[in-house]
Amino acid sequence: MSDVAIECDLLVVGAGMAGLSAAGWAAERGAKVIVVERAPAMGGSAFLSAGVLWTATAPATMALYGGGDPALGRVIFDTYPDAMRWLRARGIAIGPRMNVLNGYGYQIDIVAHLRGCAALVEAAGGYVIPDTATTALVRDESGAVVGARTSHPDGDVLVRASATILATGGYQASPELRAKFIHPNAADMRLRANPASDGAGLRLGEAAGGEVRGANPGFYGHLVSESPDWGEERLNVMLAQYHSDHALLLNEAGKRFCDETFGDHASTNHTLRQPHARALCFWDARVHAAYATQAVVASTTAEDRMETALRFGGKGVVAPDLETVARFADERGFDGEQSIRTIRAFNEATRTGWETLDPPRMEECEPLDRAPFYALVVHPAITFTYGGLTIDTGAHVLRADGVRVPGLFAAGSDAAGAFGTGYAGGLALAMTFGITAARSAGWT
Ligand SMILES: Cc1cc2nc3c(=O)[nH]c(=O)nc-3n(C[C@H](O)[C@H](O)[C@H](O)COP(=O)(O)OP(=O)(O)OC[C@H]3O[C@@H](n4cnc5c(N)ncnc54)[C@H](O)[C@@H]3O)c2cc1C
Repeated sequence: MSDVAIECDLLVVGAGMAGLSAAGWAAERGAKVIVVERAPAMGGSAFLSAGVLWTATAPATMALYGGGDPALGRVIFDTYPDAMRWLRARGIAIGPRMNVLNGYGYQIDIVAHLRGCAALVEAAGGYVIPDTATTALVRDESGAVVGARTSHPDGDVLVRASATILATGGYQASPELRAKFIHPNAADMRLRANPASDGAGLRLGEAAGGEVRGANPGFYGHLVSESPDWGEERLNVMLAQYHSDHALLLNEAGKRFCDETFGDHASTNHTLRQPHARALCFWDARVHAAYATQAVVASTTAEDRMETALRFGGKGVVAPDLETVARFADERGFDGEQSIRTIRAFNEATRTGWETLDPPRMEECEPLDRAPFYALVVHPAITFTYGGLTIDTGAHVLRADGVRVPGLFAAGSDAAGAFGTGYAGGLALAMTFGITAARSAGWT
């Protein structure tokens, strides 16, 4: 049976932040765009997100805190003002400027932005088609990508396009790829993102000649408490222990293993590499009041994170003294005696010489000595991956020899290298590279 064929200027695979931003940008400039989405509805992880579009304040902060390829980090930094101008010009609601980690940004109406992009696509004669798998990219005799074979419940469709952007959101939903590219412990890591992003973009791009950069094992995620029920979407946010940067993280031997103050997302990467990929998160009454009971961003509700964790099956204790913490730690397979030795040594160092701490602490060095004390077993959960297809600063997919695969682009979490083990905004990464890919495809 021969395929039904349709033609367009731009084919986008994946209707999340990167894909729809690219599609809307190109459509507004006159492109006929087809967006194919594997899930029954568009939005991907972007629709699960808090919509905080933020990034680093300068190229130097991007290099330091993003920690990836400086040239790719620079693309995010340089394109961010264009992204903001475009949102403002379209009347997308934007909140007040806010500081986020080591950068700044704004909470945007992410749903209005992405639905608006879909409307731009349709107004220019294109379509956003859900429930559609992309089975293979199609190449011409010169090796250029000229479209894709897609499969929809109503039948197979060959989409012919001058340019194709892969934007399927990374590979975090694939236990096999997580174990292969990140760490063997990552196979069992909890997913706190859309369940469709299982590496399709990488597979499609690699089959078309692109290089998958497996040497970037970084990922963005958060430490979460245990829960037998992870079905409720909001648990992604509710069980995350964002305040761990003010706490201590102890491994099963009762020892610190990272600079917690670098951020919960960074500690998540370190915790994955600890025995049994878990840690005991310890904090005191001061941290609890100031950080563990406050809203993370304006759209989230303030809640007591220990109370919520325990309500959903987390293993934790609110203790009147450190001896109770030690007993709890022992019961949970951590070295209780060493844990309280570490806590006491930390408190002592904050008074007599914080520079002696090993590992050091870059930021807050206040003692954790006010009862009640809080100890919670935490595990890494993944939001999106940093490895993926090798791209250049124009979002062109590259072969292993550095030559571009003609007609093929990757954006968002399908592209490798913009971040290392740091983090400077997932939505900004996706939107700026979506715009960059559309521009490189000719829609400036
Ligand atoms: C709970 C939560 C909160 C977050 N909060 C923030 C925040 O406030 N700020 C921030 O910067 N980042 C945040 N993020 C991260 C942010 O959402 C992502 O970094 C961003 O959405 C990535 O964009 P993307 O386009 O690469 O992937 P996505 O937005 O996930 O889009 C990928 C799309 O591709 C689709 N797809 C997958 N496979 C295929 C296939 N084979 N064919 C076709 N389509 C496919 C998916 O279904 C999805 O629709 C958050 C994420 C989560 C989960």
